Amino acid sequence: MSATMPALVNYGREPLSVELREVPVPEIGERDVLLRVGAVSVCGSDLHQWRGSHAWPVNYPCILGHEFCGTIERVGSAVKKFREGDRVASETAAVIDEASPLSRSGLYNLDPSRRGFGYGVDGAMTEYVRVPERCLHSLPDSLPFEKAALTEPCCVSYNAVCVNGRVRPGDSVLVLGPGPIGLLCAQMAKLSGAGTLIVAGLPADRHRLSVARQLGADVTLEGNVLEHITQMGDGLGVDMAIDCSGASVTLQMALKAVRPAGQIVKVGWGPQPLQFSLDPLVQKNITISGSFSHNWPIWERVIGMISSGQIDLGPVISHVGPLTKWHESFEKMESGEYVKAVLTP
Ligand SMILES: [Zn+2]
Repeated sequence: MSATMPALVNYGREPLSVELREVPVPEIGERDVLLRVGAVSVCGSDLHQWRGSHAWPVNYPCILGHEFCGTIERVGSAVKKFREGDRVASETAAVIDEASPLSRSGLYNLDPSRRGFGYGVDGAMTEYVRVPERCLHSLPDSLPFEKAALTEPCCVSYNAVCVNGRVRPGDSVLVLGPGPIGLLCAQMAKLSGAGTLIVAGLPADRHRLSVARQLGADVTLEGNVLEHITQMGDGLGVDMAIDCSGASVTLQMALKAVRPAGQIVKVGWGPQPLQFSLDPLVQKNITISGSFSHNWPIWERVIGMISSGQIDLGPVISHVGPLTKWHESFEKMESGEYVKAVLTP
């Protein structure tokens, strides 16, 4: 093994401060493994850091990539449950306070000191990444790395729709924003028994909306959302709206589209102030819930669902290509031509 490796490094706050650099192969601690990356998928947050349009603090310079899996190359002396050669996927909470009350109750994803791969510590858009044993999950041999890399966004969606949300068979569900998380949320809603599943985007989302139909959406909309909803059923609105966009106007639309006593789950981030009244929330007795990240039981559940084929990632993975061609994958994901690109080192 050579002492250095090519890595996709985000080296500063300025837009487009991302390039391939030769960096040292990381050292590991006694409770870590050195993971040889098998595949890493590109996330919208990687694109934001590339464009400099992100709102979170980044520990520059930092190797991008937090949706990844691979093979264990080396284990630290105190690693107990994994061995060299094991195929694994890694969670994203690279640093947590294990003694915090949230970590101790299994909600380490909500620990305020949590720092993730790809912005807080070096991520996986490279050949080797240092991963604490605590983050690892075993992968069955039959599950290809290209699919297993998408475990993380599937877990985000499972947490939003199936843990923080509650879809009952027959419910009407509206997904706002057909990016990768929106499309995976749509799939989770369908798996949960949604009766009518509507996925809404913009005219520029035409390709992603066609993927939504492949994943089971009954209706896709490129606008005119409220007109459509008020003509459905009794006209009172959908049982559940999932905001995967984050724009303030999208939340306002969700408040209008959801029926009295219905539910909104907000998984999309957006820094803008709201600029509208929340009175419909009160008047319609709506439950609104944020949803962030995921934890261990969700990972185990989702790996099983991807392995069995219950979660269908075929239509979601648009491209698998080498890390050296990262630029093309970033551009095509940004434009919506690719839903999800997966990079292999
Ligand atoms: Zn992600």
